[in-house]
Amino acid sequence: MLVHKFGGTSIGDAQRFADVADIVLAHHSQAGDLDTAQTVVVVSAMSGVTNQLISGARAAAEGRDSVYREIKAALLTRHLDVVEAMLTRNRERLEVGGLVEDQLHELERFYRSIAMLGELTPRGSDAVTSFGERLSCSILAAVLRERGARAQAVSATDLIVTDDSFGAAMPRFEATRKRLQQQIMPLLDRGLIPVITGFVAATETGVTTTLGRGGSDLSAAIIGAGLDADQVWIWSDVDGILTADPNLVPQARTLRELSYAEASDLAYFGADVLHPKTIQPVIERGIPLRILN
Ligand code: ASP
Ligand code: MG
Repeated sequence: MLVHKFGGTSIGDAQRFADVADIVLAHHSQAGDLDTAQTVVVVSAMSGVTNQLISGARAAAEGRDSVYREIKAALLTRHLDVVEAMLTRNRERLEVGGLVEDQLHELERFYRSIAMLGELTPRGSDAVTSFGERLSCSILAAVLRERGARAQAVSATDLIVTDDSFGAAMPRFEATRKRLQQQIMPLLDRGLIPVITGFVAATETGVTTTLGRGGSDLSAAIIGAGLDADQVWIWSDVDGILTADPNLVPQARTLRELSYAEASDLAYFGADVLHPKTIQPVIERGIPLRILN
């Protein structure tokens, strides 16, 4: 089993959604040493969307209604553009387009209640920021189906259980593992490709939380560990972890292999490529994590 994670720049526009779908399908059920009969995809929000969602929430709390309305409208246009460009089958286009509209109406209701209260709580912020991944996940699953795959969008709020430290919630691994086994394994057994929202999670009682900025890497590792995946692949726009920041050190080169300890040190000390907490779940299960361009 392979878990792929794609970040926001990998799905920055319609064409890139198509590229991601092609990558996923190129590796699904391919002959080779690795068992790729089962594929799981974890996806971030489209690039810039999480920041926009937060700006909208702040504007709402400050009573600047026109700002959050404009943000909602911009998000609607950007996501519907992808739907229009990528989904050629009428039924799927209408369904997913409708879903995007519904999700953004719901976002607007959240913004309105933040405006009404005049306060942005950490809990409210997590509810709002979760929309980026909810949107991208529904669209990517549909783009995969458009290409003939059997893919299903799944919200990680049903899978990843955390405490209620909103904004940087701590995963509860045992509860999460149980849900992943119960809900994702049957989909995989039926030959489906689950497409799961990165970054978002929920408390035991179902209140939406997030894993912290850049947290989709961690989502992929938690999901890989909970499903006993063979490998977790983090797709990025660099070839891997470099010996130094290439902007500062032009001779920096890509490292072929790092121990978990080395990788987590580098992440901790600021290598942008991985979220620092990511390594933990895969270390515990000894699952190799690859960074691919
Ligand atoms: N969309 C979230 C963020 O911008 C999570 C992620 O991209 O990993 O922080
Ligand atoms: Mg990232």
